[in-house]
Amino acid sequence: MKKSMIIVAGGSGTRMGAEIPKQFIELNGKPILMHTIENLHAMDTEMQLVLVLPKEQFLFWDDSKKAHNFSIPHALAEGGKTRFLSVKNGLSKITDSDVVGVHDGVRPFASKKMVDACFESANRIGASIPVVSIVQSLRVLSDDKSSAVDRNKYRAVQTPQCFQTSVLKKAFDSANRTDYSDDATVVEEYGQRIAMVDGNAENIKITTPIDLELAELIVRRQSK
Ligand code: C5P
Repeated sequence: MKKSMIIVAGGSGTRMGAEIPKQFIELNGKPILMHTIENLHAMDTEMQLVLVLPKEQFLFWDDSKKAHNFSIPHALAEGGKTRFLSVKNGLSKITDSDVVGVHDGVRPFASKKMVDACFESANRIGASIPVVSIVQSLRVLSDDKSSAVDRNKYRAVQTPQCFQTSVLKKAFDSANRTDYSDDATVVEEYGQRIAMVDGNAENIKITTPIDLELAELIVRRQSK
């Protein structure tokens, strides 16, 4: 199975409230994005990696790679106006791949067990995504009220979301809007069934300052 991974970091990352985009914030002396790429490369050194970054960050990334002696091979693609357009640009750089994953650049702790399971399942079924149970109680909002829903009927979706490469390409080519929040939705609208595998609890999307504190704890524990 020839694997590839599109790592999306094409958004503005404003929720962190920091001066630099969140993917460049350092964890243990290294940008989050480098942790993410190293983690994936360590799982399978043959995996083709495509990094999607806003064009205006290309030079910064180049400097950062030099500063950290970062040499893991990867292609670069330009970020688009929406996540969908960023993934589409990344997809155009994928060559010779049976299965492709799409992974958030700010998720450095995906486990090998989960990623392997996701690729295997996507290879067999067409599409597979990692999910975790919801621990909080949930309410659904309507016009003027809210009501409780059964949290056991819901799952939170992580990345990488994995697909047969031909399926993802066809789904993206036939999509008729660009505001999808994830890739499984694009593929589902195309008519493909989505399988699920168990996500891993540490696979957080570093989005807010509290996530960053948690990430620092996880990195510290991993380097012991
Ligand atoms: O906004 P959200 O956190 O849901 O974004 C998920 C991922 O999609 C992030 O890794 C972000 O950088 C990426 N993204 C992108 N291009 C955009 C918007 C978001 O690559 N235009």
